[in-house]
Amino acid sequence: MNKLTMSLMLPLSMTAWKVVEGFYSLVNGHLKSIRGFVISMNWNSPLHPEFLTTDGRRFTVNRVFCIAKNYEEHAKEMGGEIDRKSPFHFQKSFDAVTFEPRIRYPTHTDDLHHEVELVVVLGKGGRNLRLEDAEAVIFGYAVGLDFTRRDRQTEAKEEGRPWEIAKNFDDSGAMGIVTPQPEIGLMRDAVITLEVNSEIRQSGNIKQMAYNVTELIAFLSTLQELKAGDLIFTGTPSGVGQITRGDRLVGKINGLTDLEISLV
Ligand code: MN
Repeated sequence: MNKLTMSLMLPLSMTAWKVVEGFYSLVNGHLKSIRGFVISMNWNSPLHPEFLTTDGRRFTVNRVFCIAKNYEEHAKEMGGEIDRKSPFHFQKSFDAVTFEPRIRYPTHTDDLHHEVELVVVLGKGGRNLRLEDAEAVIFGYAVGLDFTRRDRQTEAKEEGRPWEIAKNFDDSGAMGIVTPQPEIGLMRDAVITLEVNSEIRQSGNIKQMAYNVTELIAFLSTLQELKAGDLIFTGTPSGVGQITRGDRLVGKINGLTDLEISLV
């Protein structure tokens, strides 16, 4: 090998390597993009349910906050009492909420209970909201049902466990059509009832709530930033009880659209 060949060898081999490297990254990049495409095609993007308004609009549900023990008579019938220091709440998954008229009877219970509730829908969010600013974040209201595996809840209470198994399952939060707040104003006083097979089981007034709508919003906003689409199930009056397959439920709150459900 002469000196000239030697001096050409290194740059030539480096050029050859660059070509190989370039080809490799081209193919690899292409494969990666194909893999990315395949993954995105197979990914079941979580679909948040959409609620319907009385004026025909649809918006997505974000989170679902549920207040427990907010009516004195209900707290008593559950063998407890209202906590006057602060409200007590739990959450359901957004996909536990349904707007369908048919509710699937859940697994893992022989004692499914109905709880009729006023549902507050937020149209704006906020953190550490003052009481006087809480009303402005309300989008509207609906009648809701918080279905509960009461047998599993009793066990959870005895064992000091969370209520997850009792409260969060498919169709555990039923909700009717949402009336926007401008149509009805801030809800403080309205009769709330639940009929099961045309017989009144629950009856009360939302003014009996220990913590009213704005107090609940202000409280929750101190725990996390509230957002548009968040729902607040505000607790149930007394008269909760067992339901079974084939039962027909009608939840009513004065001024709102009735919620009609059948259990299958
Ligand atoms: Mn409830």
